[in-house]
Amino acid sequence: MSSSVIDFLATEARLGTHNYEPIGVVLSRGEGVWVWDTEGNRYLDCLSAYSAVSQGHCHPKILAAMVEQAHRLTLTSRAFHNDQLAPFYEEIAALTGSHKVLPMNSGAEAVESAIKSVRKWGYEVKGVPDGQAEIIVCADNFHGRTLGVVGFSTDPETLKHFGPFAPGFKIIPFGDAAALEEAITPNTVAFLVEPIQGEAGVIIPPAGYFTKVRELCTANNVMLVLDEIQTGLGRTGKLLAEQHEGIEADVTLLGKALSGGFYPVSAVLSNNDVLGTLRPGQHGSTFGGNPLACAVARAAMRVLVEEGMIENAGTQGARFLQGLKDIRANTIREVRGRGLMLAVELHPEAGRARRYCEALQGKGILAKDTHEHTIRIAPPLVITSDQVDWALEQFATTLTQDFS
Ligand SMILES: *Cc1c(COP(=O)(O)O)cnc(C)c1O
Repeated sequence: MSSSVIDFLATEARLGTHNYEPIGVVLSRGEGVWVWDTEGNRYLDCLSAYSAVSQGHCHPKILAAMVEQAHRLTLTSRAFHNDQLAPFYEEIAALTGSHKVLPMNSGAEAVESAIKSVRKWGYEVKGVPDGQAEIIVCADNFHGRTLGVVGFSTDPETLKHFGPFAPGFKIIPFGDAAALEEAITPNTVAFLVEPIQGEAGVIIPPAGYFTKVRELCTANNVMLVLDEIQTGLGRTGKLLAEQHEGIEADVTLLGKALSGGFYPVSAVLSNNDVLGTLRPGQHGSTFGGNPLACAVARAAMRVLVEEGMIENAGTQGARFLQGLKDIRANTIREVRGRGLMLAVELHPEAGRARRYCEALQGKGILAKDTHEHTIRIAPPLVITSDQVDWALEQFATTLTQDFS
């Protein structure tokens, strides 16, 4: 390790808040699926900033759109119109089949905005008595880090000593439609759920779950809010993960890859009157819907479609999943995935997943552990067959080692 690397780590440790535990690599450049550290070592990025860099690092067309827009106009606030917002609305609505759009910045803000909107819809349209709205969520959820959102987490690390929290959330097991049916009351306004639980370790619900969920929500006039911040925009091999079961959410949340990693852009989408209940002065964001964000998001959506990234995620994801399943290693408990949202769960006796991620780093792969024993794999959607095969070789040699 050169002194410059030590300085980066030491300075972060000294001055930074220790709310992350990064792998010990300092990155300074990225292109497509590759990133380089300050020493010039190259790595295949198998995290893609938690799926925010789905289009690949520094995609030239998104970069050009960003630079061009940054020269013209960056921020007006929503006190005035700007010439990027309407085209952004048109394009995201056409892409996703949505009727209304609310632009925000971070994913957590989109979740918060959805919670506010469905509550308001509950009071003003469904007729729930004021202050009584209930929202059903799932155990092991991840919807972001704001106070409203962490209050209904079930992860002790996420919750502990951050309370008191907002009431009005009911927690049920993920993948259990009967539990949803039981939890719904006349005051239920929404069911907020991830199509695949990402942070929980890429947990895929049983086939037919979302079909049943859709039926229950429709029958009980409950808004189905799908948090597609991680699963959306091609990650699972479809534009939206809901398409795997042929259903449509009432409210869809997008973030992360909506900007191709250039800039925080998120959106709440609805295909009904939920967002219509918000009137002037009732919700907002200084940066939400700004022209720079809109220009970046427009380019990010365009390249995703034009360059066939969604189909590629399906094809390469299947290749990657099969390759991982073919690895014969005592360390592996289960391999899961859909599209390029993959995970290898290790046997607890195999040792911490982090050790394997550090070993992978030595082989030129950057991946991230989650929940002690799971390695998540989510490369940019531009990955090629040769790159998948090369990555699989590195995984095979690493996973057959024993770090217990
Ligand atoms: C990342 C993520 C969020 C939060 O997004 P931020 O931009 O970090 O606030 C919310 N929901 C899901 C499913 C996510 O993966």
